[in-house]
Amino acid sequence: MKTHCCETMTRQVNAVCKKHPNLFDCPDQIISYIPKFDEYGLIIHDGGSSTIKISFCPWCGIKLPPSKCDLWFDTLEALGFDDPFEQEIPQAFQSDKWYRE
Ligand SMILES: [Zn+2]
Ligand SMILES: [Zn+2]
Repeated sequence: MKTHCCETMTRQVNAVCKKHPNLFDCPDQIISYIPKFDEYGLIIHDGGSSTIKISFCPWCGIKLPPSKCDLWFDTLEALGFDDPFEQEIPQAFQSDKWYRE
């Protein structure tokens, strides 16, 4: 399990709710973390899956790593994937593996 800046963040990111398999439906869930982008967001409970990107941890105040979203697209493009949502991209790019390795 990946650890984050503080205990509360780690707990939030790894939270699993029995009642709400989709975390966006869970009122207790505040943070959405996208491993492949290394991106943290605040969940907006509007019935959809909107988030607001955050740069600082709301609990410990530490500066969070910058999102790797752009780098994800750039790296894939360099590999020849110009439309990664439609194309079959390497497995590593579905998780945080692509930048950890
Ligand atoms: Zn924190
Ligand atoms: Zn819940």
